[in-house]
Amino acid sequence: MYDKNNIFYKLINKEIECKKIHENDYALSFYDIYPKARIHFLVIPKGLYTDILDFADNASKEEIKGFYEVVKTSLEMLNIKDGFKTQANTGQKGGQEVFHFHLHILAN
Ligand code: AMP
Repeated sequence: MYDKNNIFYKLINKEIECKKIHENDYALSFYDIYPKARIHFLVIPKGLYTDILDFADNASKEEIKGFYEVVKTSLEMLNIKDGFKTQANTGQKGGQEVFHFHLHILAN
């Protein structure tokens, strides 16, 4: 069950600011506040999904396509051509702290 009381919900609704990279109607990318690589950013859907499984089960084709468009355009904008890592922490045991789906992208 999605709980609106999370920091990324506030970010989507512009209640708090972020260091934005790119956005479209469906998703937003921004720099992680505590980077764990030379470049570390997050991509989040604008729809309300708790984690990657909720997103896979319940997002529309347009939302999924829009999400990956933001992933790809962000990589292009940051000139990341030599590869990168992705991480989607899922559930408390999986190390998820913010329960709004987000994909970590890390590049050195
Ligand atoms: P996790 O839920 O463990 O996958 O990670 C949440 C991530 O969100 C962490 O890497 C945090 O550094 C990052 N984070 C938390 N608040 C913000 C914020 N306001 N702006 C950017 N990144 C954030």
